[in-house]
Amino acid sequence: MNAISSYVKSLFLWELLLGLRLTLKHFFMPKSTIRYPEEKTPKSPRYRGMHALRRYPSGEERCIACKLCEAVCPALAITIDSDVREDGTRRTTRYDIDMFKCIYCGFCEEACPVDAIVETSFTEYHFEERGQQIMTKDKLLAIGDKLEPQIAADRAIESRYR
Ligand code: SF4
Ligand code: SF4
Repeated sequence: MNAISSYVKSLFLWELLLGLRLTLKHFFMPKSTIRYPEEKTPKSPRYRGMHALRRYPSGEERCIACKLCEAVCPALAITIDSDVREDGTRRTTRYDIDMFKCIYCGFCEEACPVDAIVETSFTEYHFEERGQQIMTKDKLLAIGDKLEPQIAADRAIESRYR
């Protein structure tokens, strides 16, 4: 009986018909793919992409060079040098993140007492030359300045969980 059934199925291309039925079914279902980069999927406010250093609304940089982020980073990706300014406050003179070492764990963000270093939802970046993967303080501040509205909105959504 099995042999006859198998013969009939192969004669009428039964497996092919099953496959076509599945194709037809999915043809009319809502699509799960998008046309990137024209279309983009929504991102969580907790998304951990490129880092940024934030400023206060006055323009003063938030980072107080406490080095907690440097200490907590499991990948040793952060390098900080600091000095005391004329007004007696301490600020970083160097803040580098090596993006080739970073594993995007978010520990630096969690450790920061003043919400200075954050991970943003920005992911569309690449490096073309040796050394470009070192994100310096100036680069990180520039990203923070550019994305501050989004960063602040994401932090506002997440504030109740922090
Ligand atoms: S996300 Fe993690 S690995 Fe990357 S710099 Fe921050 S603490 Fe280090
Ligand atoms: S980014 Fe935050 S945790 Fe890191 S040195 Fe500055 S204030 Fe401290």
